[in-house]
Amino acid sequence: MMDTETLYELVIVILAIFMTLLYFYYKKKVCVLKLHNTQLEQLSQYDDLTQIFNRRYFLEIVNYHFKIIHQKNSSAIMMIDIDNFKQINDTYGHLLGDDVLKYTVKQISENLREDDIFARYGGDEFIVFFPFISKKDIHTIAARIQSKLEEHKTYDFPVTLSMGICVFSTLSPLINIIEYADNALYLAKSKGRNRIEFY
Ligand code: GH3
Ligand code: MG
Repeated sequence: MMDTETLYELVIVILAIFMTLLYFYYKKKVCVLKLHNTQLEQLSQYDDLTQIFNRRYFLEIVNYHFKIIHQKNSSAIMMIDIDNFKQINDTYGHLLGDDVLKYTVKQISENLREDDIFARYGGDEFIVFFPFISKKDIHTIAARIQSKLEEHKTYDFPVTLSMGICVFSTLSPLINIIEYADNALYLAKSKGRNRIEFY
């Protein structure tokens, strides 16, 4: 027969084991939830294919930036669009088209500054916010991206970009500045593509 003290000890041991199991069970649940949250956050902020920011997140962070900065120097928005990308897709297939998108993103990224915010605006169109930059410096960056693409000759066909830039020193609503940069991009396309135009 077990005495009362031993019985208490047994109950305490069983309870301790039960609590430990419960603790690890919930700890695992919390980890899985945290992982799901991170994955959801990643999905809502990044473009799946290129792994740069998506348009929604770009607008969110740059709008926030607009609210908190006190503009002393000029900043800029650059719209970038791959030239004749539909033709690349039609001739070489969608998968190679995807590859060209990723390659283009890499070439652009390598030439940006640490604080520049780069996103896929949609399809073959990209957007960059350059905080505190001069017209001369942004032109240098844009030209460097273009010449890198020209030098590399990674594909049997040329990959060229048209770029529209709006440099601003007084803060207008972001959406207006994007529209100005888009107008400049349209000008670059209409003047024959593979060009940099300013608003
Ligand atoms: P332009 O020089 O005037 O920019 O001509 P374009 O052919 O580049 O312009 P358009 O907007 O007609 O073509 C963009 C194409 O990009 C159309 C669409 O099918 C393709 N596209 C959009 N998203 C993706 C994608 O994720 N992968 C691939 N492979 N193609 C895409
Ligand atoms: Mg295009």
